[in-house]
Amino acid sequence: MNKIDRVKVREQDPKIRATNFEEVCLGYDREEALLEASRCLNCKRPRCVGACPVHIDIPGFIHALINEGEAAAATIISKDSSLPSVCGRVCPQETQCEGSCVLGIKSEPVAIGKLERYVGDWKIQHASQEPEHIERNGKKVAIIGSGPAGLACASDLAKWGYEVKVFEALHQLGGVLVYGIPEFRLPKEKIVAKEIEAVKRLGVEFVNDVIVGRTTTIDHLLDEEGFDAVFVGSGAGLPRFMGIEGENLNGVFSANEFLTRVNLMHAYDDRYDTPVFQAKKVVVVGGGNVAMDAVRTAKRLGAESVIVYRRSETELPARREEVHHAKEEGIEFRMLTNPVRVLGDEKGWVRGIECVEMELGEPDESGRRSPIEKKGSNFEIECDAVIMALGTSPNPLIKTTTKGLDTNRKGCLVADESGATTRPRVFAGGDAVTGAATVILAMGAGRRAAQAIHTSLQSE
Ligand SMILES: Cc1cc2nc3c(=O)[nH]c(=O)nc-3n(C[C@H](O)[C@H](O)[C@H](O)COP(=O)(O)OP(=O)(O)OC[C@H]3O[C@@H](n4cnc5c(N)ncnc54)[C@H](O)[C@@H]3O)c2cc1C
Ligand code: SF4
Repeated sequence: MNKIDRVKVREQDPKIRATNFEEVCLGYDREEALLEASRCLNCKRPRCVGACPVHIDIPGFIHALINEGEAAAATIISKDSSLPSVCGRVCPQETQCEGSCVLGIKSEPVAIGKLERYVGDWKIQHASQEPEHIERNGKKVAIIGSGPAGLACASDLAKWGYEVKVFEALHQLGGVLVYGIPEFRLPKEKIVAKEIEAVKRLGVEFVNDVIVGRTTTIDHLLDEEGFDAVFVGSGAGLPRFMGIEGENLNGVFSANEFLTRVNLMHAYDDRYDTPVFQAKKVVVVGGGNVAMDAVRTAKRLGAESVIVYRRSETELPARREEVHHAKEEGIEFRMLTNPVRVLGDEKGWVRGIECVEMELGEPDESGRRSPIEKKGSNFEIECDAVIMALGTSPNPLIKTTTKGLDTNRKGCLVADESGATTRPRVFAGGDAVTGAATVILAMGAGRRAAQAIHTSLQSE
């Protein structure tokens, strides 16, 4: 068994980083990466690979890094992942590859995510800036949405010779990677923009400010503009609310609106005019990654910040690392607590939130123990802003403006494993199909759909 301890990754000091938007994790340098890589046992039957949703050859890239260098490692990762610098930063490795690493049984697993990030960042810094010359095959595919699903689908199709055009509703490319996940977890210019430039070098064309379903429609793209197929990677951007009294008071936001103002519209940066409510005390309702991002963002804007979550810490769906970082930064966690009413002052502004205490009962359909209200346990938390981070669902616009496109009862597009929807020539993947999920799953779905589009168009 390997005796070296897992190499600690350098991070910004919690007290300092809680006041700025710079990246929390500083990543490995070469020496640290090679030392950590040397811990990998190069297992004959690597459990880590089976636990990776896109089955990256993890021991392969780690041992290529040791024996041949970064370029060889990057080539191996890029066979299965088009966004290594992004995934190395935001994938829930603790429940995927690292959660299955054999070293984790007796000590700590190999830091696969940090190694992937190191190799991905090296690739960004050393990539050729020249456009790639790929012979076109005369077929055209439209992609709706420039999030991880759309980017992955576009890259593969462009590599295989398709003329690919991505239509994006927002003025910036990247989907949740730019409008949701904050700069302090995923730098926009240094990382996301660079990954998108690599897709552009493959010849993919991007058009911003086009809302499919308003500016144009899928029918128009297929029937009038000559596209042979369409991939819908429009995500799940429609926020949910609790439906409790007081949710329409001034000072109640969806996490999506709050994060979009701060990340995409740079409200944290004095050089931008975007307004954002400067609260003194913020309560964020929810326990997922979105809730952690919202509460840590509120903290960085200067507010005392509290998480309110109806189950216990064991059930928190957020990545463990994010919860750990939030605690280090001084976020208060109120577990087994559920809001029942947002309280307002006479001018219609939030003055607090009324909650009840909860206890855990039998497991529900999600497998987690269900929260049960303790009768008469009502109490108030004083605050001047409430951010709802309760999950999202797909926007119904594309479904309502496209003939023959079925959705399920959650509003998600119906698509098979390959991404084929109920409408011929229309494929879909990512959050638009699964509901809010993860970057790696969206990327994997985009790549599977690219393969299905390729197979279907080649057989014509
Ligand atoms: C705050 C936050 C934090 C998260 N943290 C993590 C994390 O740590 N790890 C992780 O793995 N996952 C995380 N996720 C989830 C992850 O980001 C998503 O699962 C992933 O981005 C989904 O990719 P996608 O391509 O399907 O959709 P998106 O990233 O949502 O991209 C969809 C794109 O389509 C565009 N679009 C929508 N409708 C139209 C239309 N009609 N016409 C044109 N364009 C349209 C949107 O503007 C958007 O740019 C987080 C999500 C959020 C919101
Ligand atoms: S399971 Fe762990 S030790 Fe084995 S190959 Fe994967 S990363 Fe290396």
